[in-house]
Amino acid sequence: MIFEYAAAPESRSVVKIDPVYGHFINGKWVNGSSHFNSINPATEEVLSQIALGTAADVDAAVKAARNAFDKSWSKLSGRERGKYLFRIARIMQERAREFAVLETLDNGKPIRESRDVDVPLSAAHFFYHAGWADKLEYAGVDTTTAPHGVVGQIIPWNFPLLMLAWKVAPALATGNTVVLKPAETTSLTALLFAQVCQQAGLPDGVVNIVTGDGSTGSAIVNHPGIDKIAFTGSTEVGKLIARAVAPTNKSLTLELGGKGANIVFGDAAIDETVEGIVNGIFFNQGHVCCAGSRLILQESIADEVLEKLKRRMDKIRVGDPLDKNTDLGAINSAEQLAKIRELTAAGEAEGAGRWSANCELPTNGFWFAPTIFTGVTQAHRIAREEIFGPVLSVLTFRTPAEVIEKANNTPFGLSAGIWSEKGSNILWATQQLRAGVIWANTFNKFDPASPFGGYKESGWGREGGRHGLSAYLKGSAK
Ligand code: NDP
Repeated sequence: MIFEYAAAPESRSVVKIDPVYGHFINGKWVNGSSHFNSINPATEEVLSQIALGTAADVDAAVKAARNAFDKSWSKLSGRERGKYLFRIARIMQERAREFAVLETLDNGKPIRESRDVDVPLSAAHFFYHAGWADKLEYAGVDTTTAPHGVVGQIIPWNFPLLMLAWKVAPALATGNTVVLKPAETTSLTALLFAQVCQQAGLPDGVVNIVTGDGSTGSAIVNHPGIDKIAFTGSTEVGKLIARAVAPTNKSLTLELGGKGANIVFGDAAIDETVEGIVNGIFFNQGHVCCAGSRLILQESIADEVLEKLKRRMDKIRVGDPLDKNTDLGAINSAEQLAKIRELTAAGEAEGAGRWSANCELPTNGFWFAPTIFTGVTQAHRIAREEIFGPVLSVLTFRTPAEVIEKANNTPFGLSAGIWSEKGSNILWATQQLRAGVIWANTFNKFDPASPFGGYKESGWGREGGRHGLSAYLKGSAK
């Protein structure tokens, strides 16, 4: 018997989207001088007009943040700062459904993920850091040092609210004030967060949000009044920022791209592993810096894993992100879809075998079927470059030494996964792998207490946990 799923759409009535938004500077809404459209990538419907931040807007935000740092925020005790963070966390929980629906509309990710992952984890980051605000001396960070002051934060479009939480919560807990720029295609939940700051009574200027594009980000990076930059995004832009910051006194943390190896040893529990592979690459449409985008299978079980993986992929439901049955939503933008298409075409041209799940894609919006490439070699672009989409490159190995060689043969070093029933295998492999986070018999698990970050071209510094706190204190980390 085949069970069909009836549509189960989440109502969007809980969300109120303004036709035009300004910037949030010094606790107030400031009109923008020009605007661009924010669209729903699942339908191409225009959701709102977002202000394009200029150098003058950034300057006003930096001045507000400096004033707030000098006059209010740096004067508060950790206990008082913690109260605001707790308040923000609780309001985010109270408004969780609103945040989840808005994130799904603006980003294209399935409501199940925004509701069950992005929003609860974002609130958890504020709760976690609220707890640290008055206990920094117990966090193992150098508490004789002071907060940096004004922090410029630039975030990407793949986890818009969650990346905001990763940045804003530790900055405020340690006593900094912030100027944050969300990504061009996904500003709406950051603007809703600004309303939460107002609702929480956060002192004016402690959090400032300037929307815009790369030029706005660049104005933040190059503003002399900023003491630290925290960036998440592509390695390419990360390098530009590192160059711009190098001759200054600014501190810098970078969370960049990845090409995570998901390694399956011959003794792994196959059915559980297949679920983990699916979660590793198809969660959030593969728009995940730590995605398990290179599957490296021991030859003895490769055929069985691939057969079961294809069967499982045919069950992935692609479609309306607001439908609670949907597993894979829309690609975030036409540009990202073009990039995925370009790299997958290169994979075919270079000789890898392409297989896509049998699914019907909607006609409007930006969509890509879950896809795997077999017969991939280390030389293929799809094994080396970040695709940032629902595309898995499959390689094989015979010996443990070979898989470590292959897994580490990448300019990145953000994440890895190991599937094996043997603890000794897992412990041995984790010691050899050059990756900031390594999951064993699971994938894509996140917790505010766990530091996250990369080696090599995946970035500098850690976010989350006690390590993430030190990045927001002078002298504790560069
Ligand atoms: P970018 O690195 O271009 O953008 C990240 C953020 O930086 C955005 O807010 C962006 O603004 C801003 N920005 C762009 N140019 C500059 C600049 N010169 N100076 C300062 N800030 C700037 O990533 P994209 O979002 O365009 O995605 C491109 C690729 O990056 C993806 O395909 C993926 O491979 C990778 N990526 C990695 C992520 C990760 O978490 N590691 C997250 C997102 C992307 P705007 O959005 O307005 O361009």
